[in-house]
Parts: sequence; structure tokens; C-alpha cells
Amino acid sequence: MNYKNNNFYIEKVKAENLIKKYGSPIYCYSNRRLVENIKNFTNYFKSFDPLVCFSVKSNYNSSILKIIKNNGLGADVVSDGELKKALSIGFKPSKIVYSGVGKKFHELKFAIKKNIFLINVESESELNNIEKIAKNLKKKIDIGLRLNPNIDAKTNSKISTGRTQDKFGLNDSDILKILKKFLHSRYIHIKCLSVHIGSQITQNKPYEKVLTAINKILSKSKYQFDYIDLGGGMGINYNKDNKKLNYLKLSKSIYDFSKKNNCKIIFEPGRSIVGDTAVLLTKVIYVKNNQNKKFIIIDAGMNDLIRPALYNAKHDIIPLKKNLSKNSISHDFVGPICETSDRFLKTKKYQKINEGDNLAIKDVGAYGIVLSSNYNLRPRPIELIIDNLKVKKISAKQSLNDII
Ligand SMILES: *Cc1c(COP(=O)(O)O)cnc(C)c1O
Repeated sequence: MNYKNNNFYIEKVKAENLIKKYGSPIYCYSNRRLVENIKNFTNYFKSFDPLVCFSVKSNYNSSILKIIKNNGLGADVVSDGELKKALSIGFKPSKIVYSGVGKKFHELKFAIKKNIFLINVESESELNNIEKIAKNLKKKIDIGLRLNPNIDAKTNSKISTGRTQDKFGLNDSDILKILKKFLHSRYIHIKCLSVHIGSQITQNKPYEKVLTAINKILSKSKYQFDYIDLGGGMGINYNKDNKKLNYLKLSKSIYDFSKKNNCKIIFEPGRSIVGDTAVLLTKVIYVKNNQNKKFIIIDAGMNDLIRPALYNAKHDIIPLKKNLSKNSISHDFVGPICETSDRFLKTKKYQKINEGDNLAIKDVGAYGIVLSSNYNLRPRPIELIIDNLKVKKISAKQSLNDII
């Protein structure tokens, strides 16, 4: 995605033409970027050949999932619905892992009957339910224990999952207790220790701390796990000032860790695979001058992209037609929703913007469309994917009549 002669292109397609043809707002993905992200991620860690399971909750568009599956990844699911979706797309059960604190009895039973690779257990009660099901089916079930290592991922509090005050996982002593209790179980085989401490992590330190925490459990328990599931959480560069994860260093530490402990590694990345593959194309409805600032009112709202309102996320907003003018006055990019949190970005300077201009909100591929809603009774945006010159519609526009 880049400018050519001051016009913004997604692969070989001029973004402005998409708005002309399909209206706005539009989620628009780049096939090439997606495939490159998968290749890069796998390459970083190729020295220990991990099982990489894409976190379906970050984007479950069928066409996107098919591309991800066809490029060799498995699926990480956190609900019955995501599990069924992953199976329907054709992800092999042997490449599906299932996490979540509130899996119901019938959901566990379904997952067990489908022989998925791993259920990551988050409480002792859940494990007891699994044992019940296993007994009934006279089957031995492979499970993972999700550790809550009490580590701060140094990310937004709402997407932090590995601290004691967060609802996820089991603490050290619970894990040690369960390992002992199920050591000779006829129905439960504990084959994995899992951790996922949060999302949009942009420093190596939290991951290093996770490895240390796991090492501690391994040496205390003397238990041989076949797999260690390190979850996802790898951050992307939403703003140029973001810190960046050092993948080479991370890869080296995990390689050493896996050799030392003789275990295979699982990852569950979501954001780092799809985050920067999409933009949200939008049109300026009104420009409103207010004392010493301009409100740029766009036709995408928090119902289309809730991350800024929910997580204080800062997504860059760029014009589809670049010019050299500069307006040195505060710009507030806001949506049409009747709520003050419906704002996307504040900037000090921007090129001169007119009503009817077209813009792109960047890096919306993860936790974008999946968190969209019909709030204010607005239809969800359509999704397109660009492959070189080809434009493919990958979700239908909701008709206003239908939602009314
Ligand atoms: C959300 C989630 C992920 C993916 O997180 P990203 O930050 O998108 O990589 C992985 N594992 C579990 C258990 C999750 O809940």
C-alpha cells in the first residue's frame, strides 16, 4: 500500500476508485501483505519450526481465513463459533487450539469429539468437566494448562491478560497441584503449558519474563511437557513512534529455551498477521471549524472501528490524494455517531481537507470488522480484498432494510 503520483494505491488498485464504485466506508485488505506477513512470521521462528495457529478472533472473514489456512497456519479459537468456523474453512483439527475461560460443557464435548489438537484449560472446574466427558467417551484427552504468570505485558490494561488481577489462566501452585493429580490419569494427558499475557506487546522483556516463569515451573515440577504454547500478542507499528519487538532476539531466546527443555513451541498470533493488511476507506462528510480547531467529520464511526474509543488506539489517517498544502491547526477526526468517544485521531497539522475528500484509516485488519456493530442502527461496512489488479468483495453490505 503506497502512493503513486500522490494517489494512494492498494497493490495496483487506486483506492479512490473503490469508493467511487462501492461507496464508503470500506474495509480493504491486501492479499500480498497478508501472505508476506505469514511468511515473515514463519521465517523469524524457522529455527525451531513452531506450530503457528492464527488467532481467529482477530479476524474471521472466511476469505481471509482461507488464505491463512492455505499458507500453512493452524487456528487458535476462543469460542464454539470460532471452532465451527475454523472447521468449516478446512483447518485440520490437528492444527486447532482452543482457549477461553468460559467453555461450556457441550462446547468442550464438541471440541473433544472433533479431536482438535489442544484444549487450553483455564480452571480446575473446566478440567473436571473434560475428565467427565473423557470418561464417558472412554478416551484419553490431550490438554494444555494455561498459566497466569503474573506478568505485566506493558500494554493497554484492557488487553492485558497475564496479571493476577486478570481472569485468565491458573497460577503456579494450581498448576503444580494439577500436574500431580493428573500424572497417572487414564483420561487426561497434559501435553502443553500455555501462556498468553496480552496483546499489542512491543517489547521483548515481557516474553523474556514468561520464559523465566515457565522455566521455574518446569524445574519445580520436573514435568516433561511436549509443547509450550507461548500465545500471541506480538505488537505492530501503529504509529511511527511505537517501540518495536525485536523478532530475531526473541527467536533466539525461544530457540534456546526449546532446546534446553526439549519441547516444541506453539504460537497464536492474530494482530501481527492481519493488523497491517487492511485500511478503512472513508469520506469526509463535513469540515466544521470550531475556534482554533477543525472537526473533520468522516463517514466511518466507532461502530465500524471501535479500537480508538475502546482502547485509546491511535490509527494513522492518511489522505487518498496527497497535496503539499499544510494547515497548522489542530484537526480532530471524528465519526458521525452520537457519542463523544466516537473520535479517531487528533493531529496538529494536516494537509488542507475539503468536504468530500477521501481518507484511509490505517492498520485496521485486526480487531476491526470483528468488533464492528450496528450501533446507531448503521449497517456494517463491506470488505474487499485486493490481489494485484483484482478486486474481490469478501463480505456483503448489510442492507439498511434488513437491520431495520
Ligand atoms: C487474543 C488471543 C490471541 C491473539 O492475540 P494477538 O495480540 O492478536 O496476537 C492469542 N491467544 C489467545 C488465547 C488470545 O485470547
